[in-house]
Amino acid sequence: MLKGEIRKPIIAGNWKMHKMHLEGVKLVEEIDNSLDKNLDIEVVIIPPFTALRSISTVIKANQMKIKLGAQNMHYMSEGPFTGEISPLMLKALDIEYVIIGHSERREYFDETDELINKKLKKALEVGIKPILCVGEPLRIREIGKQKQYVREQLNNCLEGLNENYVHNIVIAYEPIWAIGTGKTATPEDANFMISFIRQRISKIFSPVISEKIRIQYGGSVKPFSIVPIMVQPEIDGVLVGGASLNAQDFSDIVNYKKKLKNI
Ligand code: PEP
Repeated sequence: MLKGEIRKPIIAGNWKMHKMHLEGVKLVEEIDNSLDKNLDIEVVIIPPFTALRSISTVIKANQMKIKLGAQNMHYMSEGPFTGEISPLMLKALDIEYVIIGHSERREYFDETDELINKKLKKALEVGIKPILCVGEPLRIREIGKQKQYVREQLNNCLEGLNENYVHNIVIAYEPIWAIGTGKTATPEDANFMISFIRQRISKIFSPVISEKIRIQYGGSVKPFSIVPIMVQPEIDGVLVGGASLNAQDFSDIVNYKKKLKNI
């Protein structure tokens, strides 16, 4: 059983463009207070850039177990890129994770697999763990071509990455039709696609690397849907959007093992 032994489960909350920085600090404190003391999973919160500095300070001052992530980064260390954020700026705030290639960035900011590949290379180079998002839109799911679509995304995004660091990548399988829609993939279907992604990683890199890389599911995860997802053998965690904005909901998701004991 590699899940839980080699691969520590990871639950991350993507706040997207929500929460003023003081609201963010309050939310992190609430989440921290409600976490199980013996938690054996990684919990990552991913606020907007403007809240990172304050939250980083609060996490450090209170020795919280919560880890911090950013929602995006540029692929250069510095330069004339107005409005962009350097990975070194994130590093200086003890940011451990960064989302790369979220479907909203692909759709609204025209991010291509090529650009995502550059960002992945840079994140690994500077020592920030990327959460790479992949997943098919509804039109692809409707014609049953989701495997081909995701295979292409993986081939392009992971091309030429340094094999010594690639195990630090987390992949989030997020079918676009399930994001923010209230529709979720069935746990079995999510497990099937994640198993497929692991096979591809094994082919692109090696079986050893594929056993180390953690693969999450993302798409309308809620407290009531977390248990059937997390009991799937291939699913190493979840990337949560909407439900991560509410301390009670996010804590219920993170503390899912309490419900497991009651089953
Ligand atoms: C996301 O934005 O990555 C996400 C999964 O959002 P939601 O949980 O709201 O569907």
